Amino acid sequence: MNLRLFDTYTRKLRDFEPLHPPEVGMYACGPTVYDYAHIGNLRTYIFEDVLRRVLEYNGYRVKHVVNITDVGHLTSDADSGEDRMEIGSRRTGMTAWEIAEIYTQAFLTDIQHLNILEPHIWCRATDHIQEQVDLIQCIESAGYTYQTTDGVYFDTSRLSDYGYLARLNVDGLQSGARVQAGEKRNPTDFALWKFSTPDEQRQMEWDSPWGTGFPGWHIECSAMAAKYLGAFFDIHCGGEDHIMVHHPNEIAQTQACHQTRLANFWMHGYFLQIDSSRMGKSVGNFITLQTLSEQGYEPLVWRFYCLGAHYRSKLNFSWEGLDSAKAALNRLRNYAFEWGDPGSADEGYLKTFSEQINDDLNMPRVLALVWDLVKSDLDAATKKATLLEFDRVLGFGLAEWQPEKVQIPDEIIELAEQRQQARQEKHWADADELREEIRQKGFEIEDTPEGARVRPIK
Ligand code: AMP
Ligand code: ZN
Repeated sequence: MNLRLFDTYTRKLRDFEPLHPPEVGMYACGPTVYDYAHIGNLRTYIFEDVLRRVLEYNGYRVKHVVNITDVGHLTSDADSGEDRMEIGSRRTGMTAWEIAEIYTQAFLTDIQHLNILEPHIWCRATDHIQEQVDLIQCIESAGYTYQTTDGVYFDTSRLSDYGYLARLNVDGLQSGARVQAGEKRNPTDFALWKFSTPDEQRQMEWDSPWGTGFPGWHIECSAMAAKYLGAFFDIHCGGEDHIMVHHPNEIAQTQACHQTRLANFWMHGYFLQIDSSRMGKSVGNFITLQTLSEQGYEPLVWRFYCLGAHYRSKLNFSWEGLDSAKAALNRLRNYAFEWGDPGSADEGYLKTFSEQINDDLNMPRVLALVWDLVKSDLDAATKKATLLEFDRVLGFGLAEWQPEKVQIPDEIIELAEQRQQARQEKHWADADELREEIRQKGFEIEDTPEGARVRPIK
């Protein structure tokens, strides 16, 4: 079955055909590094990882690019408010540059722990200021910009289909006088370059043909995506919040300069919610991977949890759900381990698996197929081989997993030896007492033909 993916731009499931087979260019909007990523952000990166793995499973060669937004980002989409890096700097006493570095490293660690395949290219906004300035100049020469006292703006009224991705009713916005436009000509116009003001001491600012300042928050993606993937590439993705503002603006910028809509497919992962509202850095209800670990849930439990819901539906967070995910993942690991060495995979299961992943990444169906495989009467070696094929997309690292080797304390080993001695001397009552003492300390003894074995009571 052909790979079919939901394209937000057309609001349709479309057959996926690469623009330059077998290569596939894929760009994902990356983290803003003024704080830790929360498990909602990570849900989006897990969705993108599954997408990449499915493309690779289909035999495509993916070039995966992710940006790091380490440059001043204002607290509001309306190009006003405070710079988040500067706020972070005040909160921690570190420089904006140090903050960006610390949270970038924390992010890299998180995605490693989640078995997210490392993108081929990481690009930092601050390493690409020249590319952003060049793109703004291109947009300017094409006549889509104007200047105000605080920056250079994109004139969205110049594009007849501005906001198509969001299905924005721009006329409705124009007449709605309640929208605070300030010096902007249209409520949907957005900053390409913002000027530093004389009374502020900014840690991150650069010279430009328009004056000292910093790039607006949409320009980095258009500039870096085009640099690494070309001005029209296969798939652009991000979280659902980007459907309304960020991605329409990326498209507008690229249309103005390159006359393309940047990507052939636009794909969006839906939100993780907690108590029925969005989990967000600014909302203050966020949970990190670190918090989960402290509560006894390793990162891959979070990956398992996320795969239980389709990426285009909202997912609610619950601790009970996390318990089930933890138990299920461990069950699966134990089965996979006990099945031993793989033989050859079952063609029937592989076919169904392909159909399900190619049906717009239907991972909940795939998880059901996994349990179906577990219960099937196929032999262990076939099950193992089939599951390992599935794991190329699931990404649970099942080939490497081993049950934890539990250290038996010296005290328990000593008691077990005394019991062995008592048995040899046929002091059965003593031996039983020692077994009971060991049991009370949390270990049990199994007598096997090779001798007594001690293991923790589960
Ligand atoms: P940020 O670091 O805030 O720019 O977000 C990084 C990525 O996470 C973006 O693709 C966002 O769309 C996405 N995102 C933000 N909040 C959530 C959430 N609650 N659930 C899923 N994805 C989210
Ligand atoms: Zn972006």
